[in-house]
Amino acid sequence: MKNVLLLIVAFVLVTSCSTLSRKRDQQPDTSTQQTPLNSSKAEQDGPKLVVGIVVDQMRYDYLSRFYNRYSEDGFKRLIKEGYQLTNNHYNFVPTYTAPGHASIYTGTSPMNHGIIGNNWYDKFDDKVIYNADDNQVTGVGTESDEGKMSPRRMLTTTITDQLELQTQGQAKVIGISIKDRGAILPAGHAADAAYWFEGSDQGNFISSTFYMEQLPQWVTDFNASKKADAYLKTWNTLYPLETYTASGSDLNDFEKAPRGKETAVFPYDLKKLRGENGNYSLIKATPYGNSIVADFAIEALKKEEMGKDAITDFLAVSFSSTDYIGHQYGVNSVEIEDTYLRLDRDIARFLKALDQEVGKGNYTVFLTADHGAVNNPAYLQSRNINAGYFDRSDFREKLNKALVEKFSSDELISNISNDQIFFNKANVMKNKINPIDLENFIASIILDYKHIDKVFTRNALVSGTMPDGTGKLIQNGFHHKRSGDVIYVLEPAVISYSKTGSTHGSSQSYDTHVPLLFYGNGIKQGSSSKRTEIIDIAPTISSLLKISFPNGATGNPISEVLRK
Ligand code: ZN
Ligand code: ZN
Repeated sequence: MKNVLLLIVAFVLVTSCSTLSRKRDQQPDTSTQQTPLNSSKAEQDGPKLVVGIVVDQMRYDYLSRFYNRYSEDGFKRLIKEGYQLTNNHYNFVPTYTAPGHASIYTGTSPMNHGIIGNNWYDKFDDKVIYNADDNQVTGVGTESDEGKMSPRRMLTTTITDQLELQTQGQAKVIGISIKDRGAILPAGHAADAAYWFEGSDQGNFISSTFYMEQLPQWVTDFNASKKADAYLKTWNTLYPLETYTASGSDLNDFEKAPRGKETAVFPYDLKKLRGENGNYSLIKATPYGNSIVADFAIEALKKEEMGKDAITDFLAVSFSSTDYIGHQYGVNSVEIEDTYLRLDRDIARFLKALDQEVGKGNYTVFLTADHGAVNNPAYLQSRNINAGYFDRSDFREKLNKALVEKFSSDELISNISNDQIFFNKANVMKNKINPIDLENFIASIILDYKHIDKVFTRNALVSGTMPDGTGKLIQNGFHHKRSGDVIYVLEPAVISYSKTGSTHGSSQSYDTHVPLLFYGNGIKQGSSSKRTEIIDIAPTISSLLKISFPNGATGNPISEVLRK
């Protein structure tokens, strides 16, 4: 009996460790032969694989600004052979990475999926939390806290979850990114795996026990090959520097050089710089961070045999280096132009691998971004455009002073973050202050503060429906339980940030307007300037796959792009 029990335990252990390969073995291995794009059989069967590509911090105009320099096989292939939506926007604030990725895949906004920031003040625990941190899990492939991650804080299902539910878990769903949140939120709760990159002294792709007990052999092998070392080489421009006419001059006042380098100009000797810039973490802020993600995604495609049987699989890939580079060098930098020219090549390489492994016409791709970015405000000022910098600590000081004068208490505010003011409810009650009076008082006085453009109170956001404009975006980003009590909006191109580089997070079009491309199986060829919203992507893919929408979806399918 004992032996039988041991055998059962051993069997359970073996099978649970090899979940990824077992799922595949159950499925008949149909052919991988190439099928023409418009083949009616392939169209009828639907895609064998859906590939979601998110480019972190990709503004809409990066497609047009660098268009002439893109190859025929990358972005242009998706645009020319697929369907382009040129007026696609985020429908909420704040436009950050975690809310962006969550909204793409859940088909709804933070008001429903609950991912209200990358980090936010958790009023129930009285501490600032990170969207994906999870103490109930541990890292896989790492000992550090960087592995303690899961999508548990995302309240609604993703398109990837729905695919798992529809197929009784037989679909293979994998998320990949440099950033943990870029892999975890898209992969959803029921995924087979999410992998992200650990920098510092590791240079490996890792996961967490939320998904698996140990890394598959191919991931261990990939890490052992130390590709990251090969990429820590010299970053020079792909073409002669003088041909980069879609950007400003390489040397200017608006960029931040890596530590150990005096100016932010090419070339960057990464081997020399890695010591002072977080070792393997340095790769994140170079185009090679995207290249290693493409390498890893192609390896996943092959080793996990994705898109090779009758059950649709889903590969969610997020390219994050574009964001790190944007933050450091800014929207108008040669570094950004070069990064996109190189990403174009990585995407071309990825599409070619999809052709080879899954077959042209057998897979569907969408490409979008998690938010845009503002032009560096100091640069805009140099061009006479209104822009500026918001001093958060000065604001907090002045607000506290006003509250002491009015209510004789300096303990009414718990936290100010993501342009939200969180009340200390216990102290508000203790001082017998009506929270609505406090909201209204703060709203009236902070409008006088420099660079604050608009203010919304909790009471207004929960008791009515904002018709349109900024108010609607604020409301869509406002989660009744998790969000703060007073929300302020800064003037256009005003940020709380360093004077170098770019950032994002606002309701302005430079942050909300992002690319949206669909390509491949079930997708028409064409383009439209009809306004679409980021929450429409998941319902569109649901319709293509004929599966349920994510459970909180508020978007609509973009029927123009679908063949039937
Ligand atoms: Zn981002
Ligand atoms: Zn960013």
